[in-house]
Amino acid sequence: MQASLGVEEFPFGRRLPCDIYWHGVSFHDNDIFSGQVNKFPGMTEMVRKITLSRAVRIMQNLFPEEYNFYPRSWILPDEFQLFVAQVRMVKDGDPSWKPTFIVKPDGGCQGDGIYLIKDPSDIRLAGTLQSRPAVVQEYICKPLLIDKLKFDIRLYVLLKSLDPLEIYIAKDGLSRFCTEPYQEPSPKNLHHVFMHLTNYSLNIHSGNFVHSDSTSTGSKRTFSSILCRLSSKGVDIKKVWSDIISLVIKTVIALTPELKVFYQSDIPAGRPGPTCFQILGFDILLMKNLKPILLEVNANPSMRIEHEQELSPGVFENVPSLVDEEVKVAVIRDTLRLMDPLKNKREKHFPDIYMDRKHRFLPVSDRMSSSKLQLSEISIVRSQPHKKPLAGKEGPSDCEPAGASDTNPNPEAHLPSICLKQVFPKYAKQFNYLRLVDRMANLFIRFLGIKGSMKLGPTGFRTFIRNCKLSSSSLSMAAVDILYIDITRRWNSMTLDQRDSGMCLQAFVEAFFYLAQRKFKMLPLHEQVASLVDLCEYHLSLLDERRLVCGRSSRAGGRAPGSSTPQGATRSAQQADGHPPCCTDSARKSSGPRRALS
Ligand code: ADP
Repeated sequence: MQASLGVEEFPFGRRLPCDIYWHGVSFHDNDIFSGQVNKFPGMTEMVRKITLSRAVRIMQNLFPEEYNFYPRSWILPDEFQLFVAQVRMVKDGDPSWKPTFIVKPDGGCQGDGIYLIKDPSDIRLAGTLQSRPAVVQEYICKPLLIDKLKFDIRLYVLLKSLDPLEIYIAKDGLSRFCTEPYQEPSPKNLHHVFMHLTNYSLNIHSGNFVHSDSTSTGSKRTFSSILCRLSSKGVDIKKVWSDIISLVIKTVIALTPELKVFYQSDIPAGRPGPTCFQILGFDILLMKNLKPILLEVNANPSMRIEHEQELSPGVFENVPSLVDEEVKVAVIRDTLRLMDPLKNKREKHFPDIYMDRKHRFLPVSDRMSSSKLQLSEISIVRSQPHKKPLAGKEGPSDCEPAGASDTNPNPEAHLPSICLKQVFPKYAKQFNYLRLVDRMANLFIRFLGIKGSMKLGPTGFRTFIRNCKLSSSSLSMAAVDILYIDITRRWNSMTLDQRDSGMCLQAFVEAFFYLAQRKFKMLPLHEQVASLVDLCEYHLSLLDERRLVCGRSSRAGGRAPGSSTPQGATRSAQQADGHPPCCTDSARKSSGPRRALS
């Protein structure tokens, strides 16, 4: 693959800077100052079961209809009493409701520690909850079945950039099947993991697991083969795809606010650092009525293209997996194509200009766990570009359009058409209204003060209130301090991260909701919050303008300490106030409140 992409791999490191750094597990290097890294800081933390549930819940509070693709979830042990009370309340109102719940340990994977229950009292509380927090979730009892089996979908999503947000979805994915015919949960079958859990890592151990040479049969198939089958039965598969795209975009929108906080902490604005991208694995279940449900997001999806086969009892061998190869090779290849730093230049200027420049890639094995690096099979070398014929399915006989040659102005002409489809910003207009928490995160980051911090101190919170003109006769600064202390203390006792003290983003969001509800009574929550965000951005943009003018006039008067540009002037004004010089674009652009303000 590397030859066809025209890149060079340095598996053991390189002194000179590289274009792309490929980490095995997570973002961890603080000594990369340029190029692109294939992991976002904080992504692993963000997609843990509890953090993901919290992030989606914030969005469910604001937009319940839009976020009903994620099962109702409670966080254990903190919300155990709430879970018991809410289940009892619904059961009292509807005695025919016979729910099932699934308990999933936080940070678990491959079905590890997961079990089903019919009643909150069945939760295995003894000792384990304290040591291992978990999420308990409504179990989807009526999944779509194929060949009488439950299955889920693994889709690969490329988060190409956080700011501006750019999302791509692979056109094909995997469908992973259970190995025991499905029955709705009953006390008799609750513990049948091969019936209820679709994890490949579990089902591979079932005697019924079928390795197939075809992509449309067996226990692991391509998602496109499922869609073909559904289409032949008259299902509107365009609608299924569009619902899935919408689920993916909404989920990423739920994750981005906190990711931005991680990002500015690890890669502070204004200092040299890499940009990031990441391939995510989305696990999705289709309900019988074809509605997609988000099960989880994987920050480090397996890119293995082999599977273990038991040749004779106890004797295993790794054999190539056609389905994995078909889906995953295309995802990696096209991610590298999209992240190619020369691609944009090529597209914009003359295609031949950059053809002979060496294009360097450096996969950095994860120092902590280099054995887990899953992509070592991808060697990346920029040889004489596009001269070698490509191996296997990528070969020119399959893919090269007639006439493609070294002089072809399109250096990708010999490659298969790209499998990653851009969905954002393509559909931004339909989804931008959901990005309210993102705008709150921009405000939060502005007031964080010391770079590298992820929590807001009491002074930062007070400055936020003052600069956004939120205090009034009915909200004194003393009340603001009490609000800060109350919410911060509660969140710090709940979250596992006790590294720094102060207000985390979720606590800030809670405080923001409270302030919005006080100020804009009577409106639905999302309108209250949107009005308050507008108001804050408006006041901050006025402040910035004023600082800009002050900076100019003081410079004209010969007093411009440390600021030779308007931006510099703004920066020094902000720094004098203890603010970071990272005022948000949205704040700058905002020309005033868009909604009627009270
Ligand atoms: P893990 O990270 O351990 O794989 P998942 O959240 O993916 O945990 O759950 C494991 C499996 O359990 C899923 O692949 C799916 O088959 C099943 N599952 C998880 N959540 C639900 C749910 N809410 N309803 C129905 N099935 C579920």
